[in-house]
This record gives sequence, structure tokens and C-alpha cells, in this order.
Amino acid sequence: MMEKKQKVMILGTGPAGLTAAIYASRANLNPLVVEGNEPGGQLTLTTEVENFPGFPDGVMGPELMDNMRKQAEKFGATFVSGWVTDVDTSKRPFRVTVDESDVYEADALIISTGASAKLLGIENESDMMGRGVSTCATCDGFFYRQKPILVVGGGDSALEEATFLTKFASEVTIVHRRDTLRASKVMQDRAHANDKIRFVMNVTPLAVAMEDGKVAGLEVKDNASGETRVLPADGIFVAIGHNPNTAFLKGQLELDEVGYIKTVGSTSATSVDGVFACGDVMDSHYRQAITAAGSGCKAAMDVEKFLEGSATHDWSVSSGAKA
Ligand code: NAP
Repeated sequence: MMEKKQKVMILGTGPAGLTAAIYASRANLNPLVVEGNEPGGQLTLTTEVENFPGFPDGVMGPELMDNMRKQAEKFGATFVSGWVTDVDTSKRPFRVTVDESDVYEADALIISTGASAKLLGIENESDMMGRGVSTCATCDGFFYRQKPILVVGGGDSALEEATFLTKFASEVTIVHRRDTLRASKVMQDRAHANDKIRFVMNVTPLAVAMEDGKVAGLEVKDNASGETRVLPADGIFVAIGHNPNTAFLKGQLELDEVGYIKTVGSTSATSVDGVFACGDVMDSHYRQAITAAGSGCKAAMDVEKFLEGSATHDWSVSSGAKA
């Protein structure tokens, strides 16, 4: 039977949450870590990770996350599986409800629930997810060898995915809703220099086009002429950004206009004393495994100081949360 009163609970098990768990457990805080529907987070949807320091030959995303989890367990972190359905941060100890029925209390919380890929919300998109529609080029690119594919979006993610997908596809078409790209110049230059990439600009996706139960392309409306047409393809990669997983916080913490948790200055402190945030749930910009891991380390160190009562930061809301 899991002890319900905890010193520290960590919500989420991506690189941020697991690094926080390693640091908190080494500080003898015996954190309880809640692992949701996607244990290991977004890295478990990737194959090889080549830019995580310490792995000159690369490392598989799932293996990296599995190792982080083992490292946290080794120092005393415990894990429960479930979905956090409610959090009450109005008084300490904080209350965390998992799967609508298991209620835990904690003196401090670290929120590391990450972010999830945004979808277009068009017809057939969800139904065909994993069967012709994808949000992860590294996971699914392999299935489109010598086939034409589309990448929807005009930001760095879309261009990075498109460039990566040229390893497999016969042709990659970037489909963007405006006539200028949002992506950085270096990514644009790289995509323009790649002769397998072409662009269809200023169109609005309307539906995933189907033929014989399979994805046949993307139906789009030309924003200039108003005409609709189907861009033929075997696969569609949606790369239009991410949403932070903060719906369960429901007005408990200060969030920015998109829903990312606001943190105070360069710390992991949030607008509520004793609640800390790290990883993609508070960082819409860097979104890297290594930056998430670094912020998880900071959160655990901030919690330790907070519980000791020796914090040197002014963590009050009045000190201002960063935008
Ligand atoms: P992003 O910069 O927010 O770009 C999202 C793109 O999707 C935009 O072009 C947007 O169009 C389009 N879009 C959004 N909603 C749409 C919809 N409903 N229908 C059609 N198109 C839609 O997101 P991101 O590309 O994921 O990048 C997020 C952050 O991570 C950025 O700061 C980026 O620089 C960074 N990043 C960096 C790298 C790298 O440097 N290697 C790689 C990936 C990401 P509009 O342009 O019209 O808004």
C-alpha cells in the first residue's frame, strides 16, 4: 500500500521529471513519481538521440528514458502509474488525485507533465493517426520509403522533420498556411537547398483525403483563390507545435496565454510557494531533452531548499513570474 503523505511528488516522467527524481532521491527526499499515459515522455516516441551529451554514438530514446528511471529508482524514488486528474494547491500539504480516486498529499510538488503535439483538428486526422498521419518523423519516417509525403507547418519543427524525412521519402512537400515561413533562416536555407523538398504555401488544410480506407493526401483550400484541391501523398506529418499538458491544473497556478506554467526568474518556482515546474511544461522555447533534464535538476534543488526552509530566492508571487 502506497504511503499517501509524501515529502515530494513529481508529476511526469520525461527527462525533466526523471532528472528531478534522481536529484530528489539522492537528497533523501524519497519522491513519489506519477507516471502518466506516456511513460518516458516524448523521447519514447523517437528512435536515435544523437545530441544528448555523453553518448558519442547516439542512444535510443526509450533506452535513455529507461536508464533515467532505473537511476531514480536506485536512489529511492518510487513510481505510481496513473493520470493526475486533480491538484489542489490552495493549502499545504498539497493534494494530488490520481485516476480520480487515489488522493496523495505532498509538502512540495514538481510538475513536469511536458507538452503534446498539436493536431489540425481536421476530418480523418485522429482516425488515421499512426496509419498515414503522424506527429513524429523519427518514429514513422521509416514507413514511407520512396513514397511522397507532406509535412504540415512552417516553423522549425516542420522544416526539421521535412529535412529528416528526405532520408526516406521520394519527395517531401511542406504545406504551410501563410506565404512566409516562421522557421529560422538556417532551417529555411537547409530546406531550400534540399532538392527533395518542395513547398505549397498559403493553403488551409481541410481534411485528410482517403482512398480505399488509406490516406491518399491532404485536401486544402488555396487562401488566395479559394479553390480546393487534394495534395496527393501516402503520409502526412503534422508539425504545428505543441500544447503544454496543464489542463489538470485548472486555475491553480499562473500560466501564460498558451498554457505554459510561468516560473519565477531563473528558478523553477511557480506562482504557488512549494510548487515547482520543469521541462516542456514551462519551456516552449528550447524543448530539448537536455534542457528539460537541466531544469529538472534545478527543480529538485529548489525543492530541497524550500523544504529546508533555507531558500535564498524570494518565491512569492509578488516577485513576478516570468512571461
Ligand atoms: P512553432 O514555431 O509554433 O510553429 C508552428 C507552425 O505551425 C507555424 O508555422 C504555424 O503557422 C503552423 N500552425 C500552427 N497551427 C496551425 C494550424 N492549426 N494549421 C496550420 N498550421 C498551423 O512551433 P515549432 O515549429 O514546433 O517550434 C517551437 C519552438 O521550438 C520554436 O521556438 C522553435 O524555434 C523551436 N525548435 C527549434 C528547432 C531547432 O532549432 N532545431 C527544432 C524544432 C523546434 P504560422 O506560422 O502561420 O503561425
